[in-house]
Amino acid sequence: MYGETIAKLIEELARLPGIGGKSAQRLAFHIVKMPKIQAETLANSIINAVNNVKFCSICCNITDVDPCVVCSNPKRDSQTIMLVEDPRDMAAYERTNEFFGLYHVLHGVLSPMNGIGPNELKFAELLKRLQNNPNVEYEIILAISPSVEGEATAMYTSKLLRPLGVKVTRIAHGIPVGGSLEHTDEVTLARALKGRVEI
Ligand code: ZN
Repeated sequence: MYGETIAKLIEELARLPGIGGKSAQRLAFHIVKMPKIQAETLANSIINAVNNVKFCSICCNITDVDPCVVCSNPKRDSQTIMLVEDPRDMAAYERTNEFFGLYHVLHGVLSPMNGIGPNELKFAELLKRLQNNPNVEYEIILAISPSVEGEATAMYTSKLLRPLGVKVTRIAHGIPVGGSLEHTDEVTLARALKGRVEI
């Protein structure tokens, strides 16, 4: 209907997460109406990011310098490693200004239904990282979301790390402040109960 060039652009935009057919169409029309220089800057930024962004060789964070800024900061506590699913979770913890250790980014959680097993995640890199420093008394903090898949991932991780003798802890998942128990899912409730502390 719009010709092949526009159809191709819509098709490519629709592949992006959270972009449905209608949004892709809206974006495509917006892009072709942009000043040419602006559209070229957008296209070049994508190419530039794809060509220059890599995984940190230590923590697997997405970075353009290797090691990433967190891993290369000598003030960070290198004995404490927080395991997260996604670079966005790492960014969220960085924003709290409450965590001064290092991270390891798995890039997902175990999800056999979607074909994501341990080999699809950065477990081998984590093992290598820990085994390379056998004299360090690590604490690995699991900061993985309390979904069914997250639970399975946490369980797998603690089994995987047990033979290394490292301390494995998990952040407590509570009821969100202002949230009601009624509208909280069971996994969160169960974890909140298990993670209860004496007051
Ligand atoms: Zn790093």
